[in-house]
Amino acid sequence: MDPYKVWLSEIMLQQTTVATVISYFTKFVSIWPTVEALARAPQEDVLKEWAGLGYYARARNLHKCAQVIARLGAFPNTEAALLELPGIGPYTAAAIASIAFGQQATIVDGNVERVISRIFRVEAALPAAKAEIRAHAATLTPRVRPGDYAQAIMDLGATVCTPTSPDCGACPWRNACGACATGDVTRFPVKAAKTEKPVRYGTVWWLEHEDQVWLRRRPPTGLLGGMVELPTSEWHARRQAHEPPVDLTPVDLKWENVEGNVVHVFTHFRLELQVQRALLKKRRNMEDGFWHPVDKIDQAGLPTVFAKVAKLVNSLNGRLL
Ligand code: SF4
Repeated sequence: MDPYKVWLSEIMLQQTTVATVISYFTKFVSIWPTVEALARAPQEDVLKEWAGLGYYARARNLHKCAQVIARLGAFPNTEAALLELPGIGPYTAAAIASIAFGQQATIVDGNVERVISRIFRVEAALPAAKAEIRAHAATLTPRVRPGDYAQAIMDLGATVCTPTSPDCGACPWRNACGACATGDVTRFPVKAAKTEKPVRYGTVWWLEHEDQVWLRRRPPTGLLGGMVELPTSEWHARRQAHEPPVDLTPVDLKWENVEGNVVHVFTHFRLELQVQRALLKKRRNMEDGFWHPVDKIDQAGLPTVFAKVAKLVNSLNGRLL
């Protein structure tokens, strides 16, 4: 199998469902059919096509990784060499090594963790149990057709050994499975108690001028690094009484609060944004941003949190005065 396609799909599928990934994957391989073509693309184009898929560090690393592979002249074909590449962790390295190159590498994703923890009745709680689960999984990985095996065990977890209603009667491993024998299947995998995500608060500004909206590009590193955004305040641990939009030279602008906060959940926190909008009647010199047509806002490459803001503003009936 083409290592480029295996790699691209595995990176896209991290924390993201197959249904969401399909259209992005198809578009990427039609625009950039090879890793060399992706390496030659400007990073801004890659981020734009990635918009809406989330976890944007993946897109930056994808591009960086493509450039490294293009310089090497070919995909490395061992797990150890793949692990040296930007954005490639143990799961992706094992997936490429086994599926694209037929190496005896052990893939462990959430589905495999569930299957293995049930077969071996792993009592330790996740995430601490990961090393133990991986060691058990390695004992089952065959030398022959390891790529097919990897896809089969992941499919088994996704379709038969499901989280709440596993169909043990249809499972080829039912006679070897510890949890099936003792009848306490859904107790596994054991999970540590979840902690509540902290909340952060901020303000985001929708500034319109002649059917265009003012956008900026975020700094290249950090959360949503390099992505296009609507101007926003810092995101604080406490709700702020007043957020002056200092970088929009708002001297005589009439900012209007938009009803209904935008809520977005990131991996480590939940964000609540108050939206304000205003109309700039006379164009003035503004730095660090650009105007973009409001009716083409879906083509601006906004990450989901800002696309939600655009959707809220565009759902309002009243025009700005
Ligand atoms: S027998 Fe049941 S619990 Fe065990 S691996 Fe198969 S589906 Fe999962």
